[in-house]
Amino acid sequence: MKQIFLSAILILSALWGASAQPKVIAHRGYWRAEGAAQNSVASLRAAGELGCWGSEFDVWLTADDHLVLYHDDEFEGRRVEELSLAELQHHTLENGEPLPLLEDFLRVAQEYPELHLVFELKPHNNKTQERKAVQASVAMVEALGLADRTDYISFSKEACLGFIAAAPEAKVYYLNGELSASELQELGFAGADYNHFLYRFQPRLIKRLHALGLESNAWTVNKRGTMKWLAAHALDYLTTDYPEVAMTLYSE
Ligand code: MG
Repeated sequence: MKQIFLSAILILSALWGASAQPKVIAHRGYWRAEGAAQNSVASLRAAGELGCWGSEFDVWLTADDHLVLYHDDEFEGRRVEELSLAELQHHTLENGEPLPLLEDFLRVAQEYPELHLVFELKPHNNKTQERKAVQASVAMVEALGLADRTDYISFSKEACLGFIAAAPEAKVYYLNGELSASELQELGFAGADYNHFLYRFQPRLIKRLHALGLESNAWTVNKRGTMKWLAAHALDYLTTDYPEVAMTLYSE
């Protein structure tokens, strides 16, 4: 009887250990996969096929109100938000794909029902345009039936507060790092999505977040030592350019 009890404890603790590992998010998709590129449809598919928990991507609203996937603030010396779709569309990604429209990208995401989408809206200088981007993003995600597996992140606090208001059921995480756990909670965030250095500098931050019912995500974690340290400190989500490394590490 005692042996059965001990075995049950061991099994339960093993299950607990497995479930406590951080969930792995491919940063800009699994863009290191063959034939992929950052923020491409191929990188989204590769993240889905690898079995990542989530896939992160970067979104801008063009001057003529099209949501597109693009990371940098500028394209050929001009801010992306000041360009029309036509001006951006002659850009091809490193894998030869055309610049993805958000709608086309999200339609591919529909094919991977297990994959969570980590939707980063880039901070727009024009705040009227940024508010429009928030509304258009939420409307598109909801129209395509992806609301229950889309989280929103941004370095723009205003954009995050816009998502919290426009999609009250969605989880919204802040990227910029200066808000404390209690400030995040007061503003309605689901948690922090901070540079991994911030967790290192504040080793109790994850505990403080958890104590308030909030979650923790770290970017962009590419070293095994940091992956291990964050897992040992009960990080919830890990954003990485090396999802296959993190997934193998966390399944060991
Ligand atoms: Mg991003």
